[in-house]
Amino acid sequence: MGYATTNPYTGEVVATFPTATSEEIDAAIARADSAFQDWKTTPVRDRAGLLQKAADLLRGDSRRYAEILTLEMGKLIGEAEAEVELSAAMFEYYARASEQLLAPRYLPVRGLGDTDAALVDEPMGVIFTVEPWNFPYYQIVRTLAPQLAAGNVVLLKHASNVPQSAAAIEELMRRAGAPEGLFTNIYASHEASEQILADPRVRGVALTGSEEAGASIASIAARNLKKSTLELGGADAFIVLEDADVEKAARWAVIGRHWNGGQVCVNSKRLIVVDAVYDRFLEAYKKGVAALAAGDPMDPATTLAPLSSQKAADDLARLVLRAAEEGVTVEEIGAPVPERGAFVRPTLLTDIPLGSDTAKTEFFGPVTQLYRAVDEDDAVRIANASPFGLGGSVFSNDVARAQRVARRLDTGMVYINQPTGVKADLPFGGVKRSGYGHELTDLGLKEFVNEKLVVVR
Ligand code: NAP
Repeated sequence: MGYATTNPYTGEVVATFPTATSEEIDAAIARADSAFQDWKTTPVRDRAGLLQKAADLLRGDSRRYAEILTLEMGKLIGEAEAEVELSAAMFEYYARASEQLLAPRYLPVRGLGDTDAALVDEPMGVIFTVEPWNFPYYQIVRTLAPQLAAGNVVLLKHASNVPQSAAAIEELMRRAGAPEGLFTNIYASHEASEQILADPRVRGVALTGSEEAGASIASIAARNLKKSTLELGGADAFIVLEDADVEKAARWAVIGRHWNGGQVCVNSKRLIVVDAVYDRFLEAYKKGVAALAAGDPMDPATTLAPLSSQKAADDLARLVLRAAEEGVTVEEIGAPVPERGAFVRPTLLTDIPLGSDTAKTEFFGPVTQLYRAVDEDDAVRIANASPFGLGGSVFSNDVARAQRVARRLDTGMVYINQPTGVKADLPFGGVKRSGYGHELTDLGLKEFVNEKLVVVR
């Protein structure tokens, strides 16, 4: 599919963009490699200066940047502004922390002096990133900021429905003073991944997206003996224990399931509530969902966004039909959604057999899976029955107990008494079919560096 901006609220095709040719991609790699030759020896303090400038420019023009997001993928304007701020905060985190994070690490070795054995981080070269549309800036910046801080340079293939968001970050980096080739947006086809990853100047790939895309990119990378990191789908469990503040948990569940139109890898997609408080939780949750107001995402009064495209809405509706065919109970909640725009009416799925296709599916939109658990052990069992292992939540007024439950969940992240969150200074990553590797903090910074050992005798 070609690159195009289509407003998901109106259905209007606003602009289209030509797909990059093989020659254009080769030229982009050459420019990136040439930029790398200077950037790798640029002092970390100077790299940090560029990142800080990018943060300042984003904040200085946040409304304009936010409107591009809402136009291209339909997120609520308030959430778009929050994404701009989060992206600025990530640039700033690396501007502030990189010098310390990249300092040599001295190893205690018997018979050697304190600084005789060191691990020094050296950049690898051009890193290819493939990103999804659900957080068009955040997804770019969470790899771009650490890779530039580490001394690498970045080639981006963004999702084909957010070409203007990709171009906006490219322009931002130019305005911040990035030399040509430091960050390049290419409107590449899927097939172009073969050419890009076969090129010896490209040293690794970071992908965020679906399992299918991850498997495809990781196998091309493996054939070329290159490292990959994969941030894939999720179906986060949201466990409510009998000693939780049930009303608070229900309020958080409404937000956790529906922010960003329900199109977040770490949305609270599977609510797992113990029997003792199930009915009370269900009543409060349905009331909260019914209060969501679908409408124009540019209008600050709207609280339920359209999905990113009509295709996404149709795909989700098909998955709900399949759930009904499997015998799952399907209930629509709240007022009907507008006919115009890629809306899906909030839907609740119950009586879901573990092991069914429905239980294993990531519903990317306002569709909630709700499970009744006998007790804490049963809740953990249901939570871990998912093929995914990204985030998760535990609600209990006994924090020590919730921490113990957190340790039993087979996921990369667990948040207590709130849905899985995202912050500029916390790492992000999952296990099982949610992928491997990390983004953000020192973990993301070190994914594509050569941790070189230097020993003095
Ligand atoms: P997707 O179809 O996999 O698209 C993601 C990116 O991969 C897009 O740029 C897409 O390009 C590209 N792509 C897809 N197939 C490809 C292939 N065979 N070769 C090269 N590139 C390919 O993902 P999506 O369904 O739109 O996005 C939602 C998924 O991402 C969900 O599963 C969500 O949970 C996951 N996600 C994970 C995280 C995380 O951090 N774990 C964060 C956000 C989203 P085109 O647009 O051109 O197809």
